[in-house]
Amino acid sequence: MALDSTTTAVYNEVVRRNPAEPEFHQAALEVLHSIQPVLQQQPELRDARLLERLCEPERQVMFRVVWTDDRGRTHVNRGFRVGFSSALGPYKGGLRFHRSVNLGVVKFLAFEQIFKNALTGLGIGAGKGGADFDPSGRSDGEIMRFCQAYMTELHRHIGPHTDVPAGDIGVGGREIGYLFGQYKRITNRFDAGTLTGKDLVLGGSFVRPEATGYGVVYFVEAMLAERGHSLEDKTVVVSGAGNVAQHAMAKLQQMGATVVACSDSSGYVHDPSGIRVDVLREIKQNQRRKLDAYPELVPTARFVPDRAPWDVPCDIAVPSATQNELGEADAIALVKNGLIAVAEGANMPCTPKAIDILHDAGIAFAPGKAANAGGVATSALEMQQNASRDRWSFSDTDKTLADTMRNIHSSCLITAADYERPGNYVVGANISGFLTVASAMNTLGLV
Ligand code: GLU
Repeated sequence: MALDSTTTAVYNEVVRRNPAEPEFHQAALEVLHSIQPVLQQQPELRDARLLERLCEPERQVMFRVVWTDDRGRTHVNRGFRVGFSSALGPYKGGLRFHRSVNLGVVKFLAFEQIFKNALTGLGIGAGKGGADFDPSGRSDGEIMRFCQAYMTELHRHIGPHTDVPAGDIGVGGREIGYLFGQYKRITNRFDAGTLTGKDLVLGGSFVRPEATGYGVVYFVEAMLAERGHSLEDKTVVVSGAGNVAQHAMAKLQQMGATVVACSDSSGYVHDPSGIRVDVLREIKQNQRRKLDAYPELVPTARFVPDRAPWDVPCDIAVPSATQNELGEADAIALVKNGLIAVAEGANMPCTPKAIDILHDAGIAFAPGKAANAGGVATSALEMQQNASRDRWSFSDTDKTLADTMRNIHSSCLITAADYERPGNYVVGANISGFLTVASAMNTLGLV
């Protein structure tokens, strides 16, 4: 990616200051590249060192998490919370529990969140956190003790007006419940607005569990409409089999598409007659097993071990597993098989080379910071409901989510056209999010 002298200097400083954090460098490079035309039009942004400030997290917390497993053995993990930007509101973003979590991964996720959260228009800053804890195979009691140990430190740094965590990979309703329980115990406050993604009984919002997956599909619907298509009778490949993938698949099927494959770390399942989301839920949530168990329940399905699903022909691909899961060769295979559109359900699942191939082939490509913003947008709705001690109906919340996704879609397209990159959702999302944050930062002065 070619950068001009200003953005090169900023990027070099990001790399120097954050060594060995390739995911963060990748996320920063893409944004710096996209926003160059804005800097040409508004040179005053350079003088205010706005880009340098934008690329330096406001705060980064790292801490030891000590917990005991069911056999009485002690484990030591590392916990993180990065508050990247509070220009638009309290830090907001999920917690990821996965063995791959390190400071660079948390920083890239928090950085992406700046632009994503700005795109929602809902007054939320950006943060992310997590731990290098591997929840697979852990009992309920072990998960609870880990969450309690993690929150014992995290509670000092969060609150409804400061920093509002939620879920991400490895953190769902169960974990949020345990985290909130410990937060409530330590602080002596039932501050529901401190965490989102809560169970309904704790003040959670309808549609929050479904929101990221449904939101991606509403975004895809808008992208297809732009090109004169609909979801009816389209073939879709989704990667992942977790929260985002499951709800995206359910909504895609409701809208008349057939999801023919999905995946997890064990491999992928292919069934031309359509993947059954009820079976996925049984395997993943109830049995907490891997996808290789799927053909035991649906004998017509084919399980392919240790591979990603991108060689399965489809009209639409929705990568919803994790960062950099879809590379150059995958993009080439998808294009060759007649792909129309890609929407990222995960954060940064496509590599920069894959995105170039998709763009060059004229495929509609939606980056995660636009396409998967429905999750955090619905978290912001949960914060609104908590602040007013209110509860909105499923259908009202779902309608607000759908409207939000359509608005994000139009902002991306309008901004991309304004900056002479028509149809480029990456440029549209990055510039649109950047303009909002930059305007708040200018208004706040040098803080
Ligand atoms: N982890 C989700 C994301 O990547 C949701 C964050 C939230 O709801 O705060 O946007």
